[in-house]
Order: sequence, then structure tokens, then C-alpha cells
Amino acid sequence: MKDNFNRKINYLRISVTDLCNLRCKYCMPEDGIKLIPHSDILSFEEIYNVTKKAVEFGVDKVRLTGGEPLVRKNIITLVAMLTEIEGIKDYAMTTNGILLAKFAEELKGAGLHRINVSLDSLDPERFRDITRGGDVNMVLDGLKAADSAGFKEIKINCVIKESSDELDAQEVAKFADKHGYLIRYIRRMNMEEGTFWAVQGGDGGNCEICNRIRLASDGKIYPCLFNDICYSVRELGIEDALKIAIGNKPESGHKSNNNEFYSIGG
Ligand code: SAM
Ligand code: SF4
Repeated sequence: MKDNFNRKINYLRISVTDLCNLRCKYCMPEDGIKLIPHSDILSFEEIYNVTKKAVEFGVDKVRLTGGEPLVRKNIITLVAMLTEIEGIKDYAMTTNGILLAKFAEELKGAGLHRINVSLDSLDPERFRDITRGGDVNMVLDGLKAADSAGFKEIKINCVIKESSDELDAQEVAKFADKHGYLIRYIRRMNMEEGTFWAVQGGDGGNCEICNRIRLASDGKIYPCLFNDICYSVRELGIEDALKIAIGNKPESGHKSNNNEFYSIGG
């Protein structure tokens, strides 16, 4: 389906949970977040139904994200359910990699095509500091497991302060090069202030060619990351929520007062 600015909307990003096992400084407050009540979180069946309808409307690219998608209970069951939908050409997940060593094999077996792993620093101390407690070795083990499971075109999402010349970014780039991973630099953004940047090495943040809509874990469809408008599939029904969201996709992003990366999935 095309939006009012002639952009073909073919990419659905699904945030399967607002929970996370890390607390990255640029993403989550230290003392945690106000959690979405359990009953507001979409069931697997609801996520399946939204995805199926979106595919009927022209979506052929799907990404699972979060929060941290691998902390959602029985995530492999959801991955396998969505594999059943015919017409998805590119089926990916963005993860912080902490639980990837445990799940890589099963994700591959359930039919996931690709994985992006977030990694901002290889230095254990700095990684722990950025993520408020994370163990970088778990992420590195996760990457190895993804390789062994047979995932190709593994991408690393590396958040930078200002430039890919920063030491951490350079080290991650060398590591990526050595292992054959692709790297995307994401400059730190602030939704409330409306600071957003195009992703280096990816298409995100480029409004003119934006092909995305986002499904949050509480069932709201967001046509733009940097705008608060959203349409609930539970209130409007799936078909109408999708149509209205695409029909009201803003020409460009501005800012968002209500959303955070962990709730809408980046
Ligand atoms: N937990 C998973 C992860 O970290 O990969 C998936 C969700 S996370 C919100 C998705 C992506 O958004 C990650 O690559 C993360 O680095 C990025 N991100 C989070 N907060 C950001 C911010 N303030 N500016 C830029 N990127 C951000
Ligand atoms: Fe969690 Fe990902 Fe946000 Fe880090 S960026 S706190 S891993 S959701």
C-alpha cells in the first residue's frame, strides 16, 4: 500500500515486548520503566493476525524488535508462527545478543532469515557502563552462535555519540570486518528533542524513502518513529488501524513526547 506521499509501505517492525535485560543509557532510565500491563500486551495470535493483514496490504519485510525480543516468553513459537505467513521476503530480528547463544539455533530452525546485533563497544568495562551492567562476552558468544547456526549477512548496530571515528566504533568496525559482519552506525537520538539522524549504512531516518510502520507491543501502530500519532488494532480493528496509520503517515518526522526506543523498537 502507498501512503499519501507515494511511498510504498512494505516494512513492518514489531516490538514484541517493552521488557529488556539491559538498561542502555541512551535508551532506558536507570530505575527501569513503567511497564505495560500484561493484559495490554498483544498475544502471539494477535501479532500473527496483524502481520498477516499487513502482508496482504503489501508488507514483505518484517523485523522483530523490542525492548529485547529474546526475553519475550516462548519467542521461538512466535518466530515460527510468522514464518508460516506467505509473502515475507525478508524476516529479521534486532537483538542485544545477550541471549543469542541460547537461541540462535532455534531461531534459524524456526525460519528467521537475518539477525542484527547491537554492539557499541568491545571493551568490557565500557560495554558494562553503556548498558548498565551487560557482559560483552555474552554478545560475542551470541554472534558466534549465530554464525554457527548458519545466519548470513549478520549486521551490527553500533550506536555512536557523533562520529564513526570514535574509538569504540572503530574497534567494532575492525571486529565486524574480521568476522564478515556488516556494520550500521546509529547516531544517538533524542525523541523528545526531535534530534534524529539517518542511519549510516542503512535506510532508517531518511524520511523521503521511509517504507516503515511499527507495531508496538500494546497493539498501537505508529506510522512514524518521531511522531506520537498511533492507531490501536484493538480499538479500531486490524484492517482499519493499518489503513489509517498508512494513510496518516507524516511526510517527515518531527519529535515524540510519548515514545522511547525501548517501547517502539527503534
Ligand atoms: N534490545 C534490542 C537491541 O538493543 O538491539 C532491540 C531494541 S533496541 C531499542 C533497537 C535499536 O535501537 C538498537 O540498535 C539500539 O542501539 C537503538 N537505540 C536505542 N536507543 C537509541 C537512541 N537513543 N538513539 C539511537 N539508537 C538507539
Ligand atoms: Fe534494551 Fe535495546 Fe534499549 Fe539497550 S537499546 S536498553 S538492549 S531495548
